[in-house]
Amino acid sequence: MLDYNQQDKWPNGFGELQSPIKIDTSKLSAKRGQLNYHVLEDYRLKQEIDDGTTIRLTGSGSAEIFGRNFEFQQAHFHSPSEHVINGRRCPLEIHMVHKNVIGQLCVVALLVEHGETPNAPFQKIIDNYEKGETEPVDLNIKDWAPWYPVGFHYLGSLTTPPLTEGVEWLLVSNPDFTVSDDQVEWFRKHFGKDDRKLQPLNGRSIEFYK
Ligand SMILES: [Zn+2]
Repeated sequence: MLDYNQQDKWPNGFGELQSPIKIDTSKLSAKRGQLNYHVLEDYRLKQEIDDGTTIRLTGSGSAEIFGRNFEFQQAHFHSPSEHVINGRRCPLEIHMVHKNVIGQLCVVALLVEHGETPNAPFQKIIDNYEKGETEPVDLNIKDWAPWYPVGFHYLGSLTTPPLTEGVEWLLVSNPDFTVSDDQVEWFRKHFGKDDRKLQPLNGRSIEFYK
């Protein structure tokens, strides 16, 4: 099982273009318009997997991302958020992992803010969870992807071993999609904190759409 207290010991054969990163918007020039990300076929979650550090859900669906077609593969959760925007962490970050026909990976990371009411689809995942069990769920996650996506686009890595680089990242937020304190507490109680430490930018450029 992955130990978040021993991150320095994670094997890393890469090292220069890693994720997550912190972003300071005052250092970026914003582009006008949306991130080029459109869901083509609604995402559905199929099976819930407890891997000891998070809940992972396999899925299906597809999206067009900067002119290329990607298949949605799986979604999983990090708490608190791994990416830090202007010094702030969100309570939850959802990674929606995509792959295209030539094997390129693109992670759409949804930075989720606190809300007063429980998030219904996340609650269904919680209710379905049983330690060590892998139970199928059937969830349409249409509303996880924002309709008018703005945010950040950069090149990084997986945030868990093997920490493979060449992974494209889209960081987005969705004001209609929030989680309650109780839900975050539930996640932390079961999995602890599963955020990888911030990694150096090493001169990479970040596209900022707003
Ligand atoms: Zn992740």
